Amino acid sequence: MKRKYFGTNGIRGIVGDLITPSFVSKMSSAIASCMLDKGTMIVGMDSRLSSPDFKNIITTSFLSNGIEVIDIGKVPTPLLQFAVTHLKADMGIMVTASHNPPEFNGIKVIDSDGIEIDTQKQIAIEQVFEEENFHFIKQQINQQVVKMDVSPVYIEQIINLVDSDKIEKKKLSVVVDGGNGVGSLITPSLLQKLGVRVYGVNCQLDGRFPGRGVEPVPEKLDFMNKVVTSVGADYSIAHDGDADRAIFGDNKGQIHYGDRSIALFERWVLSQNNNKKFVTPISSSSVMIDVIEQEGGEIFWTPVGCIYVSRTMIENGCILGGEENGGLFYSPHQSVRDGMMAAALMAEILANSEKQLSKLLEEFPQYFQKKTKITCEENIKEDVMQEIVNNVEGVEEIITIDGVKLLFPDGWALIRPSGTESIFRIFVEAQTAEKADLLMKNGLKLVRNAINKFSK
Ligand code: MG
Repeated sequence: MKRKYFGTNGIRGIVGDLITPSFVSKMSSAIASCMLDKGTMIVGMDSRLSSPDFKNIITTSFLSNGIEVIDIGKVPTPLLQFAVTHLKADMGIMVTASHNPPEFNGIKVIDSDGIEIDTQKQIAIEQVFEEENFHFIKQQINQQVVKMDVSPVYIEQIINLVDSDKIEKKKLSVVVDGGNGVGSLITPSLLQKLGVRVYGVNCQLDGRFPGRGVEPVPEKLDFMNKVVTSVGADYSIAHDGDADRAIFGDNKGQIHYGDRSIALFERWVLSQNNNKKFVTPISSSSVMIDVIEQEGGEIFWTPVGCIYVSRTMIENGCILGGEENGGLFYSPHQSVRDGMMAAALMAEILANSEKQLSKLLEEFPQYFQKKTKITCEENIKEDVMQEIVNNVEGVEEIITIDGVKLLFPDGWALIRPSGTESIFRIFVEAQTAEKADLLMKNGLKLVRNAINKFSK
């Protein structure tokens, strides 16, 4: 059975279109039915205007299934994930559409280990949903909603995992752009407790996200950069709507998208620990490999998607994971991406360095990336990928865990089928812009020839 509603990160859609009160009621009844009237569920929500209503609907569905509900209010997704394991709950539901625009909402379903549920469980839920095979308790027991604030223990755990004395002595100042989302509730107070001077930008919760939009894309972070240079801050951090991601800017007001900040975390964490196992999706930059080679570490490649990074970390006992979109996973805290943990780790890195962030990031080699997409019918995608593997020349290694990744001596190309659209996405990376252009030209030719062979 193919999934109809669950995507890479839970269920998302436009409110009033896919995401309606009746849809959320039915879907949460389906999820609760899979728990068969026992256990505890933790519910939380982001700052969207529609989130409180949907949270109430979900709560009612679970109570009607005889399941205890702990409501932890407005929280970042990583805090909800922490709460599930910390309180030993059986499941968590986060009402959020992450970085999607304000008109969207959705749910992320969290398993008892704090990670989003796997595909098998998603399919089981969708089956109950489609067949309306709900399981309600016959006799109403007096289940109550318990309200709880888990943020103090969550903040305390993060503080205990970094060198708080050293951070306090360094007297850092940091600009936090909360993007009007729930990260605003935690990151500023976490950093303040570490003795950091915090300048908040867009840190008022507002479900219309009027500040700079929900997604922390570099072109929307000009104001944050200006504040950095005008107050002389050491770094800046911008979260997405549910704060599982963090994008960093340096002391010069320059944004460094995920790959480069993740490389900095990678170098720091691997140099400080005997565990040098690092996990990243195959779309990540070669800068990750450079650090692994310098630190004598081991790299684990995964398909694109945070759930694969989390599960690979747990299966192989890895210490760190990172995604180019600004997702940082640090297993001593939890093996899920966590924007607040990233904020504190960055403070620790700078507290231990004589250099400013801009200087530290300059030490990594510059790579040139290009991206494009090409239309391809769904039914020939598998054949096209096989044809590419058969025909490519001059390649050193081929990785096929998610699309086809071709590693050449001086760069790589990744050809990935989209899970939702009839297209292939093509990414290339090389040490020079000219080489990246050439890789893209050759990659496109390879894909076009393969598509032509199988198109009718
Ligand atoms: Mg997110």
